[in-house]
Amino acid sequence: MTLTLAADLTYTGKEHTMAARCPHCKAAGVRIIYGMPDPDLGAAADRGEVFLGGCVLPEGELPTWHCPACGHEWRLHRPQAAPAKPRR
Ligand SMILES: [Zn+2]
Repeated sequence: MTLTLAADLTYTGKEHTMAARCPHCKAAGVRIIYGMPDPDLGAAADRGEVFLGGCVLPEGELPTWHCPACGHEWRLHRPQAAPAKPRR
């Protein structure tokens, strides 16, 4: 089984350190990782550093962050690179 993951869903081992805040309760969110976890990823999930979304991908936009406090899941949109505006 081969999964095609969007670039922002791939696990690099660093992204989960950039914690996002839950929009509901302001607790630190954990990164949701989709696909089959390897042993390192399973250990990270056991430590609560990432949340495993499983290898069955639901329809539509996938949330990328999970709140361990209230269970809310949300998608963090990357800031668009703003076009450089000449300032004078
Ligand atoms: Zn929350």
